[in-house]
Amino acid sequence: MVLSTQKAEASSTTSTFYKIDVTNCIKCYHCEEVASHSIAIGNDEYPYWINGSISGNYRIYVNPPQEYLEDLDEAIADCPMECISKSTHQKRK
Ligand code: SF4
Repeated sequence: MVLSTQKAEASSTTSTFYKIDVTNCIKCYHCEEVASHSIAIGNDEYPYWINGSISGNYRIYVNPPQEYLEDLDEAIADCPMECISKSTHQKRK
C-alpha cells in the first residue's frame, strides 16, 4: 500500500518548451505574422516570446496556451531558417 502511494507521488507531468534560436535568423518576421499573440520583435530586431524569457541567442516559452499551439506549429514549419523548435520534457512532481 505504501509503495503504490509513493509511485503516485513520483508520477510525472509534461512541459513543452518552445525555442527560438536567433543565431541564423534572417529577420523576415514571418513568425510574428502567424503568431502575433506570442511573438514580438525586440529592439535588437530579433523575435522574442511575449511571455517567455531570453538567454543569449535563445528565447524560451514554456507551456503556451492550448489555443496558440496551431499557430506556433505553423511558425515552426514556416521559418525559412529552422530557428524555431519545440521539445517536450517530463518533470517529476
Ligand atoms: S520566421 Fe524564422 S527567420 Fe524569420 S524572423 Fe522568425 S525566427 Fe527569424
